[in-house]
Amino acid sequence: MSLEELYQEIILDHYKKPRHPGRLEGDHVEVRHYNPVCGDELTLGLRLEGERVADIAVRGAGCSISQASASVMSEQVIGRSVPEALKVAEGFRRLMHSEGEPDEDLLGDGIAFAGVARYPVRVKCALLGWMAFKDALVRATDGLDDGETLHQEDGHAATAAKAQKLPEEA
Ligand code: ZN
Repeated sequence: MSLEELYQEIILDHYKKPRHPGRLEGDHVEVRHYNPVCGDELTLGLRLEGERVADIAVRGAGCSISQASASVMSEQVIGRSVPEALKVAEGFRRLMHSEGEPDEDLLGDGIAFAGVARYPVRVKCALLGWMAFKDALVRATDGLDDGETLHQEDGHAATAAKAQKLPEEA
Protein backbone atom coordinates (compact mmCIF):
# COMPACT_ATOMS: atom_id res chain seq x y z
CA MET A 1 0.00 0.00 0.00
CA SER A 2 1.42 3.38 -0.97
CA LEU A 3 1.54 6.26 1.48
CA GLU A 4 -1.16 7.99 -0.51
CA GLU A 5 -3.42 4.94 -0.24
CA LEU A 6 -2.74 4.70 3.47
CA TYR A 7 -3.70 8.35 3.91
CA GLN A 8 -6.90 7.74 1.90
CA GLU A 9 -7.75 4.83 4.20
CA ILE A 10 -7.25 6.96 7.30
CA ILE A 11 -9.48 9.73 5.93
CA LEU A 12 -12.17 7.26 4.92
CA ASP A 13 -12.04 5.59 8.32
CA HIS A 14 -12.62 8.89 10.13
CA TYR A 15 -15.41 9.75 7.67
CA LYS A 16 -17.20 6.46 8.24
CA LYS A 17 -16.57 6.38 12.00
CA PRO A 18 -16.29 9.91 13.38
CA ARG A 19 -14.53 9.69 16.75
CA HIS A 20 -16.62 12.16 18.73
CA PRO A 21 -20.04 12.44 17.08
CA GLY A 22 -23.25 13.86 18.51
CA ARG A 23 -24.04 16.53 21.02
CA LEU A 24 -22.58 17.40 24.41
CA GLU A 25 -24.66 17.30 27.56
CA GLY A 26 -24.48 19.99 30.21
CA ASP A 27 -22.44 23.17 30.10
CA HIS A 28 -20.78 23.78 26.74
CA VAL A 29 -20.40 26.22 23.86
CA GLU A 30 -21.81 25.33 20.47
CA VAL A 31 -20.89 26.78 17.07
CA ARG A 32 -22.13 26.10 13.54
CA HIS A 33 -19.82 26.60 10.60
CA TYR A 34 -20.63 26.42 6.89
CA ASN A 35 -18.38 26.13 3.88
CA PRO A 36 -20.53 27.38 0.99
CA VAL A 37 -17.93 26.44 -1.63
CA CYS A 38 -18.51 22.74 -1.02
CA GLY A 39 -21.71 22.76 1.03
CA ASP A 40 -20.10 21.36 4.17
CA GLU A 41 -21.59 22.11 7.54
CA LEU A 42 -20.55 21.33 11.09
CA THR A 43 -22.05 21.87 14.51
CA LEU A 44 -19.38 21.63 17.16
CA GLY A 45 -19.86 21.52 20.91
CA LEU A 46 -16.92 22.28 23.20
CA ARG A 47 -16.53 22.00 26.95
CA LEU A 48 -13.51 23.42 28.71
CA GLU A 49 -12.52 22.48 32.23
CA GLY A 50 -10.25 25.27 33.38
CA GLU A 51 -7.45 25.44 30.86
CA ARG A 52 -8.15 22.01 29.40
CA VAL A 53 -10.23 20.85 26.43
CA ALA A 54 -12.50 18.47 28.33
CA ASP A 55 -14.79 17.33 25.52
CA ILE A 56 -15.91 17.95 21.96
CA ALA A 57 -18.81 16.62 19.95
CA VAL A 58 -19.28 17.16 16.22
CA ARG A 59 -22.22 16.56 13.96
CA GLY A 60 -22.36 17.62 10.37
CA ALA A 61 -22.84 16.87 6.73
CA GLY A 62 -20.67 17.31 3.70
CA CYS A 63 -17.71 15.86 1.89
CA SER A 64 -15.46 13.19 3.38
CA ILE A 65 -12.55 15.62 3.78
CA SER A 66 -14.55 18.05 5.91
CA GLN A 67 -16.14 15.41 8.12
CA ALA A 68 -13.01 13.29 8.53
CA SER A 69 -10.87 16.30 9.32
CA ALA A 70 -13.29 17.36 12.08
CA SER A 71 -13.09 13.85 13.53
CA VAL A 72 -9.28 13.95 13.52
CA MET A 73 -9.40 17.41 15.12
CA SER A 74 -11.60 16.17 17.96
CA GLU A 75 -9.28 13.24 18.59
CA GLN A 76 -6.15 15.40 18.58
CA VAL A 77 -7.31 18.21 20.87
CA ILE A 78 -9.48 16.54 23.53
CA GLY A 79 -7.52 16.24 26.76
CA ARG A 80 -4.96 18.86 25.81
CA SER A 81 -4.43 22.22 27.46
CA VAL A 82 -5.76 25.17 25.48
CA PRO A 83 -2.27 26.35 24.41
CA GLU A 84 -1.35 22.83 23.29
CA ALA A 85 -4.61 22.43 21.38
CA LEU A 86 -3.97 25.73 19.60
CA LYS A 87 -0.51 24.48 18.71
CA VAL A 88 -2.06 21.42 17.05
CA ALA A 89 -4.54 23.63 15.17
CA GLU A 90 -1.70 25.86 14.00
CA GLY A 91 0.26 22.77 12.92
CA PHE A 92 -2.68 21.62 10.82
CA ARG A 93 -3.13 25.09 9.30
CA ARG A 94 0.56 25.09 8.36
CA LEU A 95 0.18 21.62 6.83
CA MET A 96 -2.70 22.92 4.67
CA HIS A 97 -0.59 25.84 3.49
CA SER A 98 2.59 23.78 3.02
CA GLU A 99 4.48 25.86 5.56
CA GLY A 100 7.51 24.15 7.08
CA GLU A 101 7.92 20.49 7.99
CA PRO A 102 4.81 18.83 9.45
CA ASP A 103 5.11 17.53 13.01
CA GLU A 104 3.57 14.06 12.81
CA ASP A 105 3.54 13.56 16.58
CA LEU A 106 1.54 16.75 16.96
CA LEU A 107 -0.86 16.09 14.07
CA GLY A 108 -1.59 12.39 14.56
CA ASP A 109 -3.95 11.23 11.79
CA GLY A 110 -4.00 14.84 10.61
CA ILE A 111 -0.89 14.03 8.60
CA ALA A 112 -3.13 12.01 6.27
CA PHE A 113 -4.47 15.30 4.89
CA ALA A 114 -1.04 16.40 3.63
CA GLY A 115 -2.05 15.81 0.00
CA VAL A 116 -5.09 18.09 0.38
CA ALA A 117 -2.75 21.11 0.43
CA ARG A 118 -2.44 20.74 -3.36
CA TYR A 119 -6.15 21.50 -3.81
CA PRO A 120 -7.09 24.98 -2.51
CA VAL A 121 -10.83 24.28 -2.71
CA ARG A 122 -10.43 21.18 -0.55
CA VAL A 123 -8.25 23.05 1.94
CA LYS A 124 -11.38 24.97 2.96
CA CYS A 125 -13.11 21.64 3.62
CA ALA A 126 -10.19 20.32 5.67
CA LEU A 127 -9.90 23.47 7.78
CA LEU A 128 -13.62 23.82 8.58
CA GLY A 129 -13.58 21.72 11.75
CA TRP A 130 -10.38 23.32 13.01
CA MET A 131 -11.76 26.81 12.47
CA ALA A 132 -14.96 25.83 14.24
CA PHE A 133 -12.85 24.56 17.13
CA LYS A 134 -10.87 27.80 17.37
CA ASP A 135 -14.10 29.82 17.21
CA ALA A 136 -15.64 27.72 20.00
CA LEU A 137 -12.47 28.10 22.05
CA VAL A 138 -12.59 31.89 21.82
CA ARG A 139 -16.28 31.88 22.73
CA ALA A 140 -15.69 29.55 25.67
CA THR A 141 -12.75 31.51 27.07
CA ASP A 142 -14.43 34.89 26.52
CA GLY A 143 -17.79 33.73 27.86
CA LEU A 144 -19.57 34.51 24.57
CA ASP A 145 -22.79 33.00 23.28
CA ASP A 146 -23.11 30.23 20.74
CA GLY A 147 -22.52 31.35 17.19
CA GLU A 148 -22.93 30.70 13.49
CA THR A 149 -20.27 31.46 10.92
CA LEU A 150 -20.45 31.35 7.16
CA HIS A 151 -17.03 31.11 5.60
CA GLN A 152 -16.78 33.56 2.74
CA GLU A 153 -15.92 32.19 -0.66
CA ASP A 154 -12.81 34.32 -0.99
CA GLY A 155 -11.75 33.78 2.62
CA HIS A 156 -9.16 31.54 4.14
CA ALA A 157 -8.21 30.62 7.67
CA ALA A 158 -7.43 34.16 8.78
CA THR A 159 -10.87 35.49 7.88
CA ALA A 160 -12.84 33.18 10.16
CA ALA A 161 -13.09 35.69 12.97
CA LYS A 162 -14.64 38.34 10.75
CA ALA A 163 -16.78 36.07 8.60
CA GLN A 164 -20.33 37.20 7.98
CA LYS A 165 -23.24 36.22 10.12
CA LEU A 166 -25.84 34.24 8.25
CA PRO A 167 -28.72 36.41 6.98
CA GLU A 168 -31.30 34.74 9.20
CA GLU A 169 -29.18 35.54 12.25
CA ALA A 170 -28.50 39.17 11.41
ZN1 ZN B 1 -16.04 19.81 1.41
